[in-house]
Amino acid sequence: MLTCKSLLWKNAARGVSLASKVRPCLGPVITHSRHLYNSASSQGDAIRSLHMTKTWKGNKSTNSERVNIVSRRSLFTETSHACAKCQKTSQLINNTPKREILPDNVVPLHYDLIVEPDFETFKFEGSVKIELKINNSGIDTVTLNTIDIDIHCAKLGDIAASKINIKEEQQVTDFVFPEGTLASFKDNVILNIKFTGILNDNMAGFYRAKYEDKLTGETKYMATTQMEPTDARRAFPCFDEPNLKASFAITLVSDPSLTHLSNMDVKNEYIKDGKKFTLFNTTPKMSTYLVAYIIAELKYVESKNFRIPVRVYATPGNEKDGQFAADLTAKTLAFFEKTFGIQYPLPKMDNVAVHEFSAGAMENWGLVTYRVVDLLLDKDNSTLDRIQRVAEVVQHELAHQWFGNLVTMDWWEGLWLNEGFATWMSWYSCNEFQPEWKVWEQYVTDTLQHALGLDSLRSSHPIEVPVKKADEINQIFDAISYSKGASLLRMISKWLGEETFIKGVSQYLSKFKYGNAKTEDLWDALADASGKDVRSVMNIWTKKVGFPVVSVSEEGNGKITFRQNRYLSTADVKADEDTTIYPVFLALKTKDGVDSSFVLNERSKTIELKDQHFFKVNSEQSGIYITSYSDERWAKLGEQADLLSVEDRVGLVADAKTLSASGYTSTINFMNLISKWNKEKSFVVWDQIINSISSLKSTWLFESKETQNALDNFTKQLISSMTHDLGWQFKASDSFSTQRLKVTMFGAACAARDADVERAALKMFTDYCNGNKEAIPALIKPIVFNTAARIGGMENYERIYKIYLNPVSNDEKLAALRSFGRFKEPELLKRTLGYLFDGTVLNQDIYIPMQGMRAHQEGVEILWSWVQKNWDELVKRLPPGLSMLGSVVTLGTSGFTSLQKIDEIKKFFATKSTKGFDQSLAQSLDTITSKAQWVNRDRDVIDKYLKDNGYF
Ligand SMILES: [Zn+2]
Repeated sequence: MLTCKSLLWKNAARGVSLASKVRPCLGPVITHSRHLYNSASSQGDAIRSLHMTKTWKGNKSTNSERVNIVSRRSLFTETSHACAKCQKTSQLINNTPKREILPDNVVPLHYDLIVEPDFETFKFEGSVKIELKINNSGIDTVTLNTIDIDIHCAKLGDIAASKINIKEEQQVTDFVFPEGTLASFKDNVILNIKFTGILNDNMAGFYRAKYEDKLTGETKYMATTQMEPTDARRAFPCFDEPNLKASFAITLVSDPSLTHLSNMDVKNEYIKDGKKFTLFNTTPKMSTYLVAYIIAELKYVESKNFRIPVRVYATPGNEKDGQFAADLTAKTLAFFEKTFGIQYPLPKMDNVAVHEFSAGAMENWGLVTYRVVDLLLDKDNSTLDRIQRVAEVVQHELAHQWFGNLVTMDWWEGLWLNEGFATWMSWYSCNEFQPEWKVWEQYVTDTLQHALGLDSLRSSHPIEVPVKKADEINQIFDAISYSKGASLLRMISKWLGEETFIKGVSQYLSKFKYGNAKTEDLWDALADASGKDVRSVMNIWTKKVGFPVVSVSEEGNGKITFRQNRYLSTADVKADEDTTIYPVFLALKTKDGVDSSFVLNERSKTIELKDQHFFKVNSEQSGIYITSYSDERWAKLGEQADLLSVEDRVGLVADAKTLSASGYTSTINFMNLISKWNKEKSFVVWDQIINSISSLKSTWLFESKETQNALDNFTKQLISSMTHDLGWQFKASDSFSTQRLKVTMFGAACAARDADVERAALKMFTDYCNGNKEAIPALIKPIVFNTAARIGGMENYERIYKIYLNPVSNDEKLAALRSFGRFKEPELLKRTLGYLFDGTVLNQDIYIPMQGMRAHQEGVEILWSWVQKNWDELVKRLPPGLSMLGSVVTLGTSGFTSLQKIDEIKKFFATKSTKGFDQSLAQSLDTITSKAQWVNRDRDVIDKYLKDNGYF
């Protein structure tokens, strides 16, 4: 799965720096023994008899039902709270209960599932026959996962269940059969259940996604699924654990006008009594979280460039924008087959654009689902970021078809590896197809910085977090899993060599195909392929929180000492938080090349380096740490840009900013470094410079207008000549790098209020709104909208609103939505916030205008007031399990920069349940603390620097 938040991180990197976005750390490491539920009904369980099943027919799904779904979704357990705040995970491991899993007296072999949704009542009728293997015939209770499913009857063979106990809290139902039932069957038995479920509007399980028909303007619904991590149990009673793999034969029933899709191709389709029945072929053995089916009005485009059908489906009128993804899918499947040496095993590959989708995309085997904007692309009306995003998302989901779908993590603790690998693999293939995108260089500005930013907070957590209960899993779809996980894999691929890394991965895939594996199984495969001790190196990085700062002391006499310590952005590491010694690959770059042999695996080490004119630690920035130099060395490195690679320069800018923020070095070293690099040619380095300045500006957000203007003057001085030399005309003959650089510089100049550039942007906007659709190059449209919004006024607001309602592309719609937050007038901000709840903005998108509000004081203040005032409604609308509530908490609080605000925020949440977003909140507070400390420490230093250099 690719979360929508990964888009949010990326946008954060491009504009206002967004505070950390991490989900809570979870329960203990558990031995793999299956823990048997107490099958006697325990007190407090909601036990409902068969007879209490109410009739759903005719009942419209109401608001209160939706609330019910939200509140019944199990939240984070108390035991996990403690470890969110501290690093003593190991202590907790011994104190927390065992992993809760289903009993193993029976296990599933095959499911025959029939589903028929009702678009009037928003319910669905279902029937499932599960072939079970009997492991223990002495137990006559079969326990399945269920949520919000009404069971009508259950039989084993011909024997009906005598009692059906629904345990809502544990999300299971016990089917109790008369004594001796299981013993009356031999090895296998069929469990037959008939049920009714809710076609909910919470983007979970089998749900309804609302949309407006592009051709007729009517409101319509798609019925679609999102099972990962644990919502298959909302769709049908099942054994909803990743290592309980089985095969699935799915049948869909609906009005004949609708299209039916599922993981497999169609076996048989017929019309009977005015209904269409579609029987799909049986899947290979797979996990429940990968099951998918869709019933909707759909059209498709396809690519014929692969040996099996490759299609992109969308609601009618949108499908033509799917061609880019269809062609890319065909090409990527062929590439991955070759890379892994294993055929894609299913007979077709469908990608579907889903209206109302909580994540970015989901890798369901053979039927990948996407947020509309992450799949459909109108290339002529899209930014370069958007094109790259669609390419990355598609390749990420396709990588999962092998890594995740064919070989699946044994339990959710392995999620980081699933996601980290798919992320790494998507860059690997992107780099193969589009080398000019320089994805590995961009990785250093985007992913690595994001991982380091989060992991530098006290409230971070180890990559490999033990998961005790299935319903805690939503909490670990976070940037630590995706970004730090992928950064680790990059580090290891550099260490082993890419070819060896891929060889190890493909051996692992062959060995475990159609089965499950643990993280250690991959380390062992990589060790076999490389002959290196992968396990012990990686275990430290995956099981320990945080990363080190390596301090470099030049002792004189040719001696240099390297020392590692845990890094925290608040720079207040306590002794007991600084006990881990990381295996740090120093990768020392000198004029003679890179020495890769030197590993700092102790607290400190001194080496001799004869020629100290030039050296840089962490060559290519492939290690997960930051490096702190002396003031003199920072100054020297600033003069040596020509000896450094793009990754090195990006790394130095990022490290200088990070170290300034925490007080390891003076912010002046950062300002001086970037001042010297105003002739820089790489768009990636410029991206990092601009991001770092944005981060400084967001920390100085509540300082005086004079200081903020002086910071803008500093930026203008830095970027002006490059911006004006490049201009903002885009030619077809421009290379990708030139286009990207033009976009970056134009955006930075607008943000710093360069008068010429701002005037040009405003003219483009006015011409565009007056009907000249060519007036704004698509690549800079979001920047132009943001600029118009920052200039403000009712007229500009109305114009952007009109664009939002009638956009030429999805990308334009998003750009308009995001720019609403840039207006500073309170009445306009209030109007925008009003749109979040009145249906103008979809629930899946409500965080988007909030991003823009973080760019100015007025927005930060008003957003926080709004969050407080509307808290109850937010909790109702955003199920904590979907993790969007955590994003809203982060966006709503982390814009502040003073310690006083921390007290106010704490006071507000003191009376609320913070389950489901406690980690987001803790990290927001840590972020504010870091900013407050930075600005308090360097306020005068920066003022003096800006005055001395004539920027006031
Ligand atoms: Zn994924």
